[in-house]
Amino acid sequence: MSWGWVRRGGVHYDVRCLNHEESAMRSVHCLGDSKVTIGESPKPSADELSLVMRVKASAICGSELHALRMKPEELPAEYDNGGHEVVGVVEEAPAGSEFKAGDRVGARIVEGCGECTFCEQGYDTACLNKRIYAEPGGHAEYFRVGVRSAHRVPDGCDWPEGAILTGDGLGVPIRAARRLGDTKGKQVAVLGLGPVGLSNTLVQSWGGARVMGVDISAYRVNLAKELGAEEAVLGGESHDVEQAVMDWTDGRGADIVMIAAGRAEVFKTGFDLVRQQGTIIQVGELEELTFNPSGVFIRREATMMGSWYYASQDWPNMLAAHESGMPYGKLITHRFPFEEAQAAYDTFVSGESGKVVLTYE
Ligand SMILES: [Zn+2]
Ligand SMILES: [Zn+2]
Repeated sequence: MSWGWVRRGGVHYDVRCLNHEESAMRSVHCLGDSKVTIGESPKPSADELSLVMRVKASAICGSELHALRMKPEELPAEYDNGGHEVVGVVEEAPAGSEFKAGDRVGARIVEGCGECTFCEQGYDTACLNKRIYAEPGGHAEYFRVGVRSAHRVPDGCDWPEGAILTGDGLGVPIRAARRLGDTKGKQVAVLGLGPVGLSNTLVQSWGGARVMGVDISAYRVNLAKELGAEEAVLGGESHDVEQAVMDWTDGRGADIVMIAAGRAEVFKTGFDLVRQQGTIIQVGELEELTFNPSGVFIRREATMMGSWYYASQDWPNMLAAHESGMPYGKLITHRFPFEEAQAAYDTFVSGESGKVVLTYE
């Protein structure tokens, strides 16, 4: 087997296709029902657009949980894992590219065509001809990524930190910070302190915003304080989050409410917590929900925005965060050898973790 491309809804995905040569690697295989194992898959190969890295670290993302929790029969065919926050050493790069074997690189998995008006702005994620490098999954010994969407891992961070720097870990909150603009001195309520909420807590606090974090996990509430939150409180049914936010903001409501939780009731709570003409930013993936905009949204004249992954225009700000000494490595609470992937996922879903990273020999 080797690799080719298929186009679905305007997006190019890489897929396996039959080939005479066969070279295998080990990768995490998602079995459904929250179980994983280490299996074999065909090793990807570089082409004129992409390089292959020998993976040194891969971070687990909350977006993987949907597939992890599927029933075995519901999993897509030939699905290995949803890993996409990957760093490693270049094994093979196309001739004439800026990379060579041995370079330290991280993967931005969404790569624009490089020619359209969006790509000219560095807004790859909006490109109508973007490529997504995500299969067979980044929790594997080798991973292929586009030459134009590979980023050099700078000195001063180890491999797990590199996976945070070049992946969702720093990319997602830096993108959200771009969307929000100057938040210095503003009061930001972050609802949900999984990795996305925690990383936004760090980036906003580091940038001078005043952050209150809310989560049902005491572990994550404490972690938010360590990452710079001015306040962090327990949420859930037996806690009056609205009162806590109103007390913190002298009854006005938060300037910005960031929704980093995947539950509809948290989304609705967000509108109760934002001040007049405040901003609500949705950064956590959410299923369909019913919502009446009249009461809080229209009368409160709120602004609602979204933010997705990161684009090449965000990379300079991510590097600047690294150079400023932002302690993004603190987002990592657990590191597991790749072979112990099951323990890593169990830790990730327990709610008693920040970023969980797999490491490779
Ligand atoms: Zn992700
Ligand atoms: Zn484009």
